[in-house]
Amino acid sequence: MEATKREVAGRQLVCPFCDHDRFFVRLTLMNTRGATFFGLDWANREADCYICERCGYVYWFMPGYGEPR
Ligand SMILES: [Zn+2]
Repeated sequence: MEATKREVAGRQLVCPFCDHDRFFVRLTLMNTRGATFFGLDWANREADCYICERCGYVYWFMPGYGEPR
């Protein structure tokens, strides 16, 4: 998958570490024992990960906020 400019909730994504604006995207399942133990039901879902092409910084966004999917 190619690193491109991304938007989240209508805002351009920019890396807070290196100011780069191109990111890879991955879906990550947030299903962990720890999350279940602490009663975080929302954690057993997929989240969007945006990985900075230049430095590898990872944004992690929970689904269900902002635009409907
Ligand atoms: Zn970066």
